[in-house]
Amino acid sequence: MEALDLVMNLNDLEQDAVIECPYCHKGKTYSYGARGMESSNCHVCGRLVLWDFDRMMAFKARARKYAS
Ligand SMILES: [Zn+2]
Repeated sequence: MEALDLVMNLNDLEQDAVIECPYCHKGKTYSYGARGMESSNCHVCGRLVLWDFDRMMAFKARARKYAS
């Protein structure tokens, strides 16, 4: 059995949107048919962003609070 190398060539995918970081406008996330929302830190400024792929917008996210 061959091991997968987990490398994808992004040129093979159809990019449908680019969303800019709402803080620095330099960090970007690229959608390839993505749907729904994702929270992740901007790779440029490091702040927490909620990326909304349904509306193709990004929001300044507040960290989720966990009950203790
Ligand atoms: Zn940013």
